[in-house]
This record gives sequence, structure tokens and C-alpha cells, in this order.
Amino acid sequence: MRLTILVPTPHYADIDCLLHYQSNSALPYGTLVRVPLGSRELLGIVWNDLDARTTHERVIPDEASLKPIIEVFDSIPALNDHWRELVKFCANYYQRSLGETALNSLPASLKKLTSPQLKKRIKILDKPVLNSSQKNETYAPKLTDEQVHAISAITSQTRPYLLFGATGSGKTEVYMQCVAHFLSQNIHAQALIMVPEINLTPQLKDRFSERFSHWGAQAVVSLHSGMTDPQRLSSWLLAHRGTARIVLGTRLSIFASLPNLALIVVDEEHDTSYKSDSGVRYSARDLAVYRSHKLNISVILGSATPSLESWHHSRPKSDGGRYIRLSMLHRVGNKEDSNVTTFGSQFPKLCLVDMNHQPRNTILSQPLLTAIKERIACGEQSLLLLNQRGYAPVLFCSDCGWKSDCTNCSAYRVFHQLDRTLRCHHCGLTQPVPRACPSCGNLDIRPMGQGTERLEELLTEALLGHERKNGGCARIVRIDADSTRHKGTLEQMLSSVYHGEVDVLIGTQMIAKGHDFRSITLVAAINPDGALYSCDYRASERLFSLLLQVSGRAGRDAQLAHRAQMWVQTWQPTHPLYSALKDHDYQKFADQLLIDRQVAGLTPFSSQALMRAEGKTQEAAQSFLLRASQAIDAVISASEPNASKHLEENIRKSALFRYRSYITISSPIPMFMQRVANVERAQMLIESSSRVALQGFLAAWQPLIFQQKQKGLIRWFIDVDPLSI
Ligand SMILES: [Zn+2]
Ligand SMILES: [Zn+2]
Repeated sequence: MRLTILVPTPHYADIDCLLHYQSNSALPYGTLVRVPLGSRELLGIVWNDLDARTTHERVIPDEASLKPIIEVFDSIPALNDHWRELVKFCANYYQRSLGETALNSLPASLKKLTSPQLKKRIKILDKPVLNSSQKNETYAPKLTDEQVHAISAITSQTRPYLLFGATGSGKTEVYMQCVAHFLSQNIHAQALIMVPEINLTPQLKDRFSERFSHWGAQAVVSLHSGMTDPQRLSSWLLAHRGTARIVLGTRLSIFASLPNLALIVVDEEHDTSYKSDSGVRYSARDLAVYRSHKLNISVILGSATPSLESWHHSRPKSDGGRYIRLSMLHRVGNKEDSNVTTFGSQFPKLCLVDMNHQPRNTILSQPLLTAIKERIACGEQSLLLLNQRGYAPVLFCSDCGWKSDCTNCSAYRVFHQLDRTLRCHHCGLTQPVPRACPSCGNLDIRPMGQGTERLEELLTEALLGHERKNGGCARIVRIDADSTRHKGTLEQMLSSVYHGEVDVLIGTQMIAKGHDFRSITLVAAINPDGALYSCDYRASERLFSLLLQVSGRAGRDAQLAHRAQMWVQTWQPTHPLYSALKDHDYQKFADQLLIDRQVAGLTPFSSQALMRAEGKTQEAAQSFLLRASQAIDAVISASEPNASKHLEENIRKSALFRYRSYITISSPIPMFMQRVANVERAQMLIESSSRVALQGFLAAWQPLIFQQKQKGLIRWFIDVDPLSI
């Protein structure tokens, strides 16, 4: 008999991803199979033929001429309706091919194994695992009133919730109690907990595994890109077969097959890592909301600094809000002792250093340095945030004005002192530092600006001879992408901070999130002003969120909370962003930003998509974008084609015609980072006040774009709900 199989044809290949094959027996939709395609053998999924793209001429071949399916993976259940609906929605919404979306969201090793090999893997998983800790007592820490309120709200009504909880207000405890509630309702129920960073997963996994150990050794599994392929497959299989009750994972875990999903949690929901930046450019947070809606279950979006979108959605229901906002504004006290809970621990006090009044070229101001020394003297830790790795962002010649440009990109190469190199952080071009200015021969070429290496060097000098509380020299550790390149070093560094072996921690935004450092009482942002001048309208939202997150690292220990300080070195001390930070007032800041966005007609008050083109020349990239937009008007103004013969064209034309007036397409422009690795990049913004119109328009437009030819074009794609413009 004839079966329709979904195969991963790439997005740009203009062939349908639903193909016909011959099978001896009927197979349910969602069954995994292996099929031949050309000279290859591919993993495919039995699919409903009705999902075939209508824009393609479909010639249904004779059954006798069809190739047979090679093998059926019958040792695991078929992917259910809900999962197939999820990937279909994702493909449509983000304008990618269904085959690519569905098959790429499955674990890579599933594609390599034969059916007997898979059976063997499952047998290993089914071997009884000894549960080392068989604690079955119910753990009940003392909760704050805010936690009690949040938990009772979430467990009583199915909705999307925005858990607006300050850092240290005990969001994780709320997640765990809600998970415990929903999973005890039904012995098969499952929960998906998403976190942004891989390096946060082990800590969180330990907490969940410990709490839920009575559900068995395989009850809690992780799913993230830091795992090996076989590890990922094991977690995926445990989730798919219902053995795993809790899946903890990063962005990609949103596609886990969870047949009995009862609750989704998205921790740090504002984090940009939830949005994929290649291939299918999906937002895992938005898909989580979609998934919960389809299953009629609750989703908890947690954050101390929610994204403006989620904040807006959680406005009062009477104003059209769709989420319920639950606030937890007070910090939980010392967590180590569950019998003592201190309420309302203070938030760090903000100290602004006006850099206009500091000596020229100051990197670390005197008052801040003094404060750091005080902390060291009494055995407390400091954390310095500087979002630029390397020694200095650029080298320059004071004679002729030469700067260390990258020859491949429109960016400077960063000066790295430790290995004396100039490195491009975009294309990787690395060269030794020249002895003299390459343009005029001047020997005096200097670093301009500051990076973490330079800050470390400066601080080391400044702290020379300065003793720690228990004797010995002050110790500094630098955490950034360079210092943590080797596997295991990050964990080692974090643990040395955790155990108090380090006095000052210097780092990029890697150190801002999640880590629970108890003895940090001073946090400082060294040079955060950049975002205030950025051309990206989301930059200030992100800066505020970063600074609030990083300030949350200070004073987590209740005994030290009163000493906690957040320092900011700025040239703009009167900027409203800093006054909102002073009051620790996200709400005020977000509400003001929303007013600005509404006036400017930006998200969340409009829907956006970016069409991006990359070419050998900027002209090629831009003229492709122009062609793509001109093609729309050409179709709309063309004379009526023969109705019976060109059904697809008519459907497309009427869709374009219907939606065109709701859409604004701006002119193609070079991207801010115009050239990367010798590729020229251009973009075109497509906006609409109606999401439905934008979606309908993009779907009708895409086939037209495929028809456009342009010499020198390398690739193009559409980014729906882009995070940076
Ligand atoms: Zn020069
Ligand atoms: Zn470069």
C-alpha cells in the first residue's frame, strides 16, 4: 500500500518534503521509518498526506513504481498528534520546511541507528537501575506568603503564568512545588523545565533529582546540546516512552516528545538564548506557550526581568492580558537553614560613579577600588562585570590613526595581550600583534578601550601587597570565553569562587546569571554605557535586565545582605535607566519602555519579520531583497490567470492582495555588522500591526522569493519575531 513519508528536504530545495513509498502494512501517523531517497537512506516519519504543500504540483505515482520502505522502527511508539502538530506549527510560523523542522528536532543518533540497534539501546535503558537515594519523605521548606500565593494560583487554574520574581525570591522552589503537585495527580504525568544556560543545568538537575528521587533513578533527565549524542538519545527515549517524568533542558528540549506533558516551566524567560539564531529560527519560549495552549496545561514563565512581550501579555485581563502575573518581590532569607526564613532581605544599594569627574582614561575608579579593598579585608567577595573579552577592543596608532580593522569583517580585531594576538571575534582571523604600525611604521601603537584581560592586569597591580582576611595575597579569577575554553575549567573556577578561594571575580555576562555565590557583597558594572547609544531598540531593555540580574548576585546570604552594593561606572549618571535600577524597579522601567514602544509602533505593538540576504557584494544582497519585494507587486498587478489552470497562483495572488495593505516593507539596508568573513549582509524589515496578516503574507510570498535569481547571492532567510534589528 501507499504511505506518505515526511523526509528532511532542505528549506531551499524546492521539492516537497512529503513523498510516497510502498509499505506491506498500514502504519500509524508518527511512526519512524527508514526510506531511500536518491542514493541515500534517510530517517522519515509516516505523515498525513493532507499536509502536503499546496503550492506544488503533486503527481501521485503508480503504487507499483514506488520504492519500498526499508525498515520500520517499531520498538518505540509513534510520535503523537500533539508532537506532529507542534512541529507543523513551528514550520509554518517560522517559514521553514516541515521536513527540516520535524527531523532536525529529533536526536541526531536516532538518524544513524538501524531498527535492531535501537532495540538494543532500549533494552539497556530498560535494565532496572538501582536508586541510590530512596528518600520518600516529603520535603517541606518554609515558604514566604508570596510563594504560597503563587503555588496555590498555579495549581488551581490552567493558564499561562508570568512568575515575576526578584532574584533570590525563591522561584525554583515554586517550580518544584508545582511540579510535585501536577506529577502527583497522575502517575504518568510529565513536566518540562527549560533553562537558558547549559552551565546552569547540573546545579538545577541536582536539586530536582534530589527532591524527586522517590520517583526512580530515571525520573529526571537532562536534554541539552552539551551532551553527547548517545546521552541525548537516552534522555529523549526515556521522555518519549514516558519513563522520565521531568525533563530539564535548554532551548532544543521544547521539541522533546512528552506523551503525558502536564506542566511547562520556562525559567529566565527573557533570555535571548531561547531564540534560535540559525536554521529554523524558533523561539522556544513562544513554542512553550503554544504547546501549553494546545494541551490545555499551564506554563510558568519565570523572570526577575521579564521580556517586554511577556510583561505586556500579563497586563490585567480587563486590558486584554492573556497571562496571569504573579509577583514575588521579596527575597527569601538564608536558604541553608530551612527553619529560619528571613523576609524582605534588602536589595543591593546602587552606587553610581560619574566618570566625567574621574581622571582621563580611568578604567577602575578610585572609590570603586577602595570599596573592593574593603571587601577583601573583611573576607567578602566582589564581582566585576565587563562585557568585552581580550585586553582592548582595538589597537590604534596615534600618528596616522591606523586601527586594527579586520580585513574580512566590518569590525575591529581585539587585542589579546596574553598570547600577543589580534583576533576577530566574528570570523576568527588571528594574527600576531605587529611590532609597529602597519601603515606608517610608528612603534607606538596602543590599546584603546578596555577588556577583561586589561582589567585583570590593572586590578592585580592595584591589589599588590593587599592582604586577605586570613593572610596571603588577594586572589582574582577571570571568567570569559577565553579563560574557560577547556572543558571543566569553568566548573573549576565557579567552584573556587563558591568555596571562597577567590576575592574578586572578573567576567563577561557569562557570570551574570544563576550562579549562587553566597559571599559576594559588591557587584560592579565597569563600562555598561555602550547599550545606551545602540541603534537596536532592544539594547536598553537588555542592559537593564543584565544589570538587575548581576546585581542579584550580591548579598544572597541573609547575614551579608545589608552590606550588598551595586556599583556602576557611567558617563550618563542621570539616565532614567540608572534611576530605575536604583529603585530596583523593573515595573516602572518596563511600563515606560512600553509607552515608548507603543508610540513608535514597535513590538509588542506590531509583528515583525526580517528578510536577510547575504551575498558576495552588498549590491547583490540588496538587489535580491528589492527583487523579492517587487515580485509581490508584479503578481498583484498581473492580469487574471486562467482560473482552472493556475489554481495555486490564484490562491497566492488573492492572499497577497488581501494582506498587502496591512504590511509595511522597508527598503533594503546594510546590516549593522555589514560584512562578516567577507560576506556582505543586508536586511529588509517587514512589519504589520496584525500577526495573522503578517503570517498569511509571508506564506504567500515565500514561493515567489524562491523564483528570484540573483548573481552573487549566497543565501537568504526570513527571521520571524527577530530579537535584534
Ligand atoms: Zn601609523
Ligand atoms: Zn573578521
